[in-house]
Amino acid sequence: MILVFLGPPGSGKGTQSDMVSEKISLPVVATGELLRHEQNIGSRVGKKIAKLMDAGSLVPDILVYRLLKKRTKQPDAQKGFLIDGFPRRQEQFKHLVKLIKKSDQICAINVEVSDQEVKKRIGDRRVCDCGAAYHLKYKPTKKPGICDECGKKVYIRNDDKPTVVTKRLKDYHQRSQPILNYFDKHYKLITINGEQSINQVFADIMKAIKQLKK
Ligand code: AMP
Repeated sequence: MILVFLGPPGSGKGTQSDMVSEKISLPVVATGELLRHEQNIGSRVGKKIAKLMDAGSLVPDILVYRLLKKRTKQPDAQKGFLIDGFPRRQEQFKHLVKLIKKSDQICAINVEVSDQEVKKRIGDRRVCDCGAAYHLKYKPTKKPGICDECGKKVYIRNDDKPTVVTKRLKDYHQRSQPILNYFDKHYKLITINGEQSINQVFADIMKAIKQLKK
Protein backbone atom coordinates (compact mmCIF):
# COMPACT_ATOMS: atom_id res chain seq x y z
CA MET A 1 0.00 0.00 0.00
CA ILE A 2 1.16 3.52 -0.77
CA LEU A 3 -0.34 6.41 1.17
CA VAL A 4 0.39 9.88 -0.13
CA PHE A 5 0.05 12.67 2.43
CA LEU A 6 -1.01 15.95 0.85
CA GLY A 7 -1.66 19.29 2.47
CA PRO A 8 -0.13 22.75 2.85
CA PRO A 9 3.14 23.29 4.73
CA GLY A 10 2.36 23.20 8.44
CA SER A 11 -0.80 21.10 8.01
CA GLY A 12 0.66 18.45 10.29
CA LYS A 13 1.11 15.87 7.55
CA GLY A 14 4.65 15.14 8.75
CA THR A 15 3.44 14.48 12.31
CA GLN A 16 0.52 12.40 11.07
CA SER A 17 2.56 10.36 8.60
CA ASP A 18 5.00 9.51 11.43
CA MET A 19 2.14 8.39 13.67
CA VAL A 20 0.49 6.31 10.92
CA SER A 21 3.87 4.84 10.00
CA GLU A 22 4.32 3.54 13.52
CA LYS A 23 0.81 2.14 13.64
CA ILE A 24 0.85 0.29 10.30
CA SER A 25 4.60 -0.47 10.18
CA LEU A 26 5.37 1.12 6.84
CA PRO A 27 8.18 3.68 6.50
CA VAL A 28 7.69 7.36 5.70
CA VAL A 29 9.46 8.69 2.65
CA ALA A 30 9.56 12.47 3.14
CA THR A 31 11.21 14.28 0.25
CA GLY A 32 11.86 17.42 2.33
CA GLU A 33 13.65 15.24 4.91
CA LEU A 34 15.72 13.46 2.24
CA LEU A 35 16.76 16.84 0.84
CA ARG A 36 17.55 18.34 4.25
CA HIS A 37 19.67 15.27 4.99
CA GLU A 38 21.75 16.03 1.88
CA GLN A 39 22.29 19.53 3.24
CA ASN A 40 23.21 18.29 6.69
CA ILE A 41 25.85 15.91 5.40
CA GLY A 42 27.19 18.65 3.09
CA SER A 43 26.87 16.58 -0.11
CA ARG A 44 27.19 18.15 -3.56
CA VAL A 45 23.43 17.92 -4.02
CA GLY A 46 22.93 19.46 -0.58
CA LYS A 47 25.09 22.47 -1.45
CA LYS A 48 23.32 22.92 -4.78
CA ILE A 49 19.83 23.04 -3.28
CA ALA A 50 20.47 25.10 -0.13
CA LYS A 51 19.45 28.47 -1.61
CA LEU A 52 16.35 27.10 -3.30
CA MET A 53 15.18 25.42 -0.13
CA ASP A 54 15.83 28.45 2.05
CA ALA A 55 13.74 30.52 -0.36
CA GLY A 56 10.89 27.99 -0.22
CA SER A 57 11.27 27.15 -3.92
CA LEU A 58 11.05 23.65 -5.33
CA VAL A 59 14.33 21.94 -6.18
CA PRO A 60 14.82 20.34 -9.63
CA ASP A 61 12.66 17.24 -10.11
CA ILE A 62 15.57 15.05 -11.21
CA LEU A 63 17.29 15.42 -7.82
CA VAL A 64 14.09 14.52 -5.98
CA TYR A 65 13.46 11.52 -8.26
CA ARG A 66 16.95 10.15 -7.58
CA LEU A 67 16.55 10.37 -3.82
CA LEU A 68 13.04 8.94 -4.01
CA LYS A 69 14.16 5.98 -6.12
CA LYS A 70 17.06 5.19 -3.81
CA ARG A 71 14.86 5.39 -0.71
CA THR A 72 11.94 3.35 -2.08
CA LYS A 73 14.35 0.58 -3.11
CA GLN A 74 15.35 -0.03 0.51
CA PRO A 75 14.13 -3.37 1.92
CA ASP A 76 11.80 -1.72 4.45
CA ALA A 77 9.79 -0.06 1.67
CA GLN A 78 9.02 -3.19 -0.34
CA LYS A 79 5.60 -3.76 1.21
CA GLY A 80 4.64 -0.15 0.71
CA PHE A 81 5.36 3.26 2.18
CA LEU A 82 3.90 6.62 3.13
CA ILE A 83 4.94 9.67 1.13
CA ASP A 84 5.15 13.19 2.53
CA GLY A 85 6.04 16.12 0.28
CA PHE A 86 5.59 14.42 -3.07
CA PRO A 87 4.11 14.87 -5.66
CA ARG A 88 4.15 18.65 -5.69
CA ARG A 89 3.49 19.26 -9.37
CA GLN A 90 1.94 17.53 -12.37
CA GLU A 91 5.22 16.07 -13.69
CA GLN A 92 5.90 14.57 -10.28
CA PHE A 93 2.47 12.96 -10.22
CA LYS A 94 3.27 11.30 -13.57
CA HIS A 95 6.60 10.14 -12.16
CA LEU A 96 4.87 8.59 -9.17
CA VAL A 97 2.49 6.72 -11.46
CA LYS A 98 5.53 5.24 -13.24
CA LEU A 99 7.21 4.36 -9.95
CA ILE A 100 4.36 2.36 -8.49
CA LYS A 101 3.66 -1.22 -9.47
CA LYS A 102 0.30 -2.39 -10.82
CA SER A 103 -0.38 -4.33 -7.65
CA ASP A 104 0.08 -1.30 -5.40
CA GLN A 105 -2.95 0.16 -3.74
CA ILE A 106 -2.50 3.91 -3.69
CA CYS A 107 -4.48 6.50 -1.81
CA ALA A 108 -3.97 10.19 -1.08
CA ILE A 109 -4.79 11.67 2.30
CA ASN A 110 -5.40 15.36 2.06
CA VAL A 111 -4.92 17.11 5.40
CA GLU A 112 -6.90 20.32 5.03
CA VAL A 113 -5.88 23.40 7.03
CA SER A 114 -6.61 27.09 6.33
CA ASP A 115 -3.81 29.54 5.49
CA GLN A 116 -4.56 31.49 8.65
CA GLU A 117 -4.03 28.39 10.81
CA VAL A 118 -0.86 27.43 8.86
CA LYS A 119 0.73 30.82 9.55
CA LYS A 120 -0.13 30.56 13.22
CA ARG A 121 1.33 27.06 13.50
CA ILE A 122 4.52 27.51 11.51
CA GLY A 123 5.73 30.39 13.67
CA ASP A 124 5.87 27.96 16.57
CA ARG A 125 7.39 25.04 14.67
CA ARG A 126 10.84 23.81 15.70
CA VAL A 127 12.85 21.06 14.02
CA CYS A 128 15.97 19.05 14.66
CA ASP A 129 18.62 17.82 12.24
CA CYS A 130 17.66 14.25 13.14
CA GLY A 131 14.27 14.79 11.45
CA ALA A 132 12.16 15.28 14.58
CA ALA A 133 9.64 18.13 14.50
CA TYR A 134 7.99 19.98 17.38
CA HIS A 135 5.48 22.72 18.09
CA LEU A 136 5.94 25.04 21.06
CA LYS A 137 2.32 24.55 22.17
CA TYR A 138 0.96 21.35 20.64
CA LYS A 139 4.05 19.13 20.65
CA PRO A 140 6.73 20.72 22.86
CA THR A 141 10.12 19.18 23.57
CA LYS A 142 10.45 17.71 27.07
CA LYS A 143 13.47 19.95 27.83
CA PRO A 144 13.08 23.48 26.40
CA GLY A 145 14.91 23.82 23.06
CA ILE A 146 16.39 20.30 23.17
CA CYS A 147 15.36 17.44 20.88
CA ASP A 148 13.73 14.50 22.72
CA GLU A 149 15.15 12.05 20.20
CA CYS A 150 18.82 12.98 20.02
CA GLY A 151 19.51 15.76 22.53
CA LYS A 152 20.61 18.34 19.92
CA LYS A 153 19.32 21.92 19.84
CA VAL A 154 16.08 22.43 17.90
CA TYR A 155 15.72 25.42 15.60
CA ILE A 156 13.42 27.31 13.19
CA ARG A 157 13.74 26.16 9.58
CA ASN A 158 14.96 28.93 7.26
CA ASP A 159 11.91 28.38 5.06
CA ASP A 160 9.57 28.76 8.06
CA LYS A 161 10.21 32.53 8.21
CA PRO A 162 6.94 34.49 7.62
CA THR A 163 7.71 35.91 4.13
CA VAL A 164 8.85 32.52 2.88
CA VAL A 165 5.76 30.83 4.33
CA THR A 166 3.50 33.23 2.43
CA LYS A 167 5.28 32.30 -0.81
CA ARG A 168 5.14 28.57 -0.05
CA LEU A 169 1.40 28.80 0.61
CA LYS A 170 0.79 30.69 -2.62
CA ASP A 171 2.77 28.09 -4.59
CA TYR A 172 0.97 25.28 -2.79
CA HIS A 173 -2.47 26.60 -3.77
CA GLN A 174 -1.39 27.10 -7.36
CA ARG A 175 -0.07 23.57 -7.69
CA SER A 176 -2.17 21.48 -5.35
CA GLN A 177 -5.59 21.50 -6.96
CA PRO A 178 -4.56 19.61 -10.11
CA ILE A 179 -2.76 17.01 -7.95
CA LEU A 180 -5.84 16.54 -5.77
CA ASN A 181 -7.98 16.19 -8.90
CA TYR A 182 -5.66 13.53 -10.35
CA PHE A 183 -5.82 11.43 -7.22
CA ASP A 184 -9.58 11.82 -7.07
CA LYS A 185 -10.01 10.83 -10.71
CA HIS A 186 -7.45 8.02 -11.06
CA TYR A 187 -6.98 6.65 -7.53
CA LYS A 188 -8.54 7.57 -4.22
CA LEU A 189 -8.59 10.84 -2.33
CA ILE A 190 -9.59 11.17 1.31
CA THR A 191 -9.89 14.63 2.82
CA ILE A 192 -9.38 15.03 6.54
CA ASN A 193 -10.08 18.10 8.68
CA GLY A 194 -6.56 19.01 9.86
CA GLU A 195 -7.77 21.74 12.24
CA GLN A 196 -8.56 19.30 15.04
CA SER A 197 -6.32 17.99 17.80
CA ILE A 198 -3.37 15.85 16.68
CA ASN A 199 -5.07 12.75 18.14
CA GLN A 200 -8.40 13.44 16.47
CA VAL A 201 -6.77 13.97 13.05
CA PHE A 202 -4.90 10.70 13.58
CA ALA A 203 -8.13 8.89 14.56
CA ASP A 204 -9.87 10.16 11.41
CA ILE A 205 -6.97 9.06 9.20
CA MET A 206 -6.83 5.59 10.77
CA LYS A 207 -10.60 5.20 10.32
CA ALA A 208 -10.25 6.08 6.64
CA ILE A 209 -7.35 3.63 6.21
CA LYS A 210 -9.37 0.81 7.81
CA GLN A 211 -12.21 1.52 5.36
CA LEU A 212 -9.71 1.21 2.52
CA LYS A 213 -8.64 -2.24 3.66
CA LYS A 214 -12.23 -3.57 3.66
P1 AMP B 1 8.91 20.08 3.12
O1 AMP B 1 9.75 19.53 4.23
O2 AMP B 1 8.05 19.02 2.47
O3 AMP B 1 8.13 21.30 3.51
O4 AMP B 1 9.95 20.53 1.98
C1 AMP B 1 10.93 21.50 2.22
C2 AMP B 1 11.54 21.98 0.93
O5 AMP B 1 12.16 20.88 0.26
C3 AMP B 1 10.56 22.53 -0.11
O6 AMP B 1 10.23 23.88 0.12
C4 AMP B 1 11.38 22.35 -1.39
O7 AMP B 1 12.42 23.30 -1.47
C5 AMP B 1 12.03 20.99 -1.16
N1 AMP B 1 11.17 19.88 -1.62
C6 AMP B 1 10.55 18.93 -0.85
N2 AMP B 1 9.86 18.07 -1.59
C7 AMP B 1 10.01 18.48 -2.87
C8 AMP B 1 9.50 18.01 -4.12
N3 AMP B 1 8.66 16.97 -4.17
N4 AMP B 1 9.88 18.66 -5.24
C9 AMP B 1 10.71 19.72 -5.20
N5 AMP B 1 11.20 20.24 -4.06
C10 AMP B 1 10.85 19.63 -2.90
